[in-house]
Amino acid sequence: MVVETPGSQSSLHRANLERVVRAVRRSGALTQAEIARSTGLSAATVSNIVRELKDNGTVEVTPTSSGGRRARSVSLSGDAGIVVGVDFGHTHLRVAVGNLAHRVLAEEAEPLDVDASAAQGLERAEYLVKTLIAATGIDPGKIVGVGLGVPGPIDESGVLGSTAILPGWAGTNPRDELAARLDVPVHVDNDANLGALGELVWGAGRGAADLAYIKVASGVGAGLVINGQIYRGPGGTAGEIGHITLDESGPVCRCGNRGCLETFTAHRYVLPLLHSAHGPDLTAPRMVRLARDGDAGCRRVIADVGRHIGSGVASLCNLLNPSRVVLGGDLAEAGELVLAPIRESVGRYAIPSAARQLEVVPGALGGRAEVLGALALVLSEMGDSSLLDGVPAADAPGRA
Ligand SMILES: [Zn+2]
Repeated sequence: MVVETPGSQSSLHRANLERVVRAVRRSGALTQAEIARSTGLSAATVSNIVRELKDNGTVEVTPTSSGGRRARSVSLSGDAGIVVGVDFGHTHLRVAVGNLAHRVLAEEAEPLDVDASAAQGLERAEYLVKTLIAATGIDPGKIVGVGLGVPGPIDESGVLGSTAILPGWAGTNPRDELAARLDVPVHVDNDANLGALGELVWGAGRGAADLAYIKVASGVGAGLVINGQIYRGPGGTAGEIGHITLDESGPVCRCGNRGCLETFTAHRYVLPLLHSAHGPDLTAPRMVRLARDGDAGCRRVIADVGRHIGSGVASLCNLLNPSRVVLGGDLAEAGELVLAPIRESVGRYAIPSAARQLEVVPGALGGRAEVLGALALVLSEMGDSSLLDGVPAADAPGRA
C-alpha cells in the first residue's frame, strides 16, 4: 500500500484519474473533448490520463465521428465487469445484462401479474437473471451489481412504501431480498427515477443537465434530474407530480385528495371514457393506435390528457426550470397528438421565461427506459476504486 500525503502529486494524479473514470462510468462513451468539458481538466491532462487508463485496460478507445469530425470515443473497458438491470412494472418484468462500456448484451421481458406477491416476483427475477447470464456465457463472478426498479416510493433503507398499486409489496425490502438471492450488491429506485436515468444516459435526455421524465401509466410520476443527478428528496417521494391538485372538487384520488392530476390522466381514469365506443377491454397502446388512425374520440381523450399533463409540467417548470421534459410510457407513442397540447398548456400556465427554455420531447427508449436506467444506476453507484485497483500511484516504483 502506498501512503499518500493529501495534496501531493500522486494524490492529485489519482484524483484526476477518478474524475475521468467517473465521467465515462456515468455517461457511457465520451470524446476526449467531452471528458475535458465535464471534468474541467485540460485537454492535455485528459489525453495523458486516457492513454494511461487505456494501457492498463481500464478504458477502451474507439474511432467515432463527432459533428462531422473524426474523433475517438472513450468508454470503460467492456471486459471490466457486468451490470444487470431488473425492472418490475405494473404488468411486466424486464431484465437486461450489459457491460461497463454501456453495451447491452442480452435483454428479456415477460408479463407479470400486477397482484403477484413480492416473493413470487423476486423469484421470477432471480430465475430470469440467472437464465440470461447462463445464455450469454458470462462468468457470474464478473457481475458488479444489479439495478432494481419498482413502481412505488422507496425510502433510504430500501423499504417500499405503502402503495395502492402493489399492495403485495408494501413494507418489503426488495433490494435486500434480491441481493440475498443473487449474492451481489443491489441498488434500488422507483420506475420514474430509472426512466429519467435511462433517457438521460441512453436516450432523449442525453446532453441535458436538468430534465424531468414524466411517465403516465397506471399512475403518473416524474423522475427529476438536477445538475446531472437524480433528485429523490429525503423520503424518496420527489417528483410525485401525479398528486398536484387540478380540481379541488374533482374525483377522489387513491392518495385521499380530490382532483389530482392523476385522476385526469392515468390510464384507469381515462380508458373508461372510451368504453362505450371501444369496449371495456381497450388498452392504452390500442387507444394510441386508434388515435393515430384518426379516431376522433381517442384523439380528444389524448389531447385532454396532454392539456392536463401540461398544467402539471407548467408548475414543475416554474419551480425547477428544467431545460427538457421527456414524456415516457405508452402515451409518448401518440407523438404530437399529446405533445402539442402539453406545450400549449405550458405556454399558457408557466412563467414565460421558464416556458421559453423548455423542450418537450417523446422518450426514445419506450418500455426499455426503466431497465436501461437500472443498468445506468449500477454504473452510477458502483464507485471507482475497484476499476482503479490495477492503477499504480504516480510516484510508485517502476513508473517513469
Ligand atoms: Zn392523488
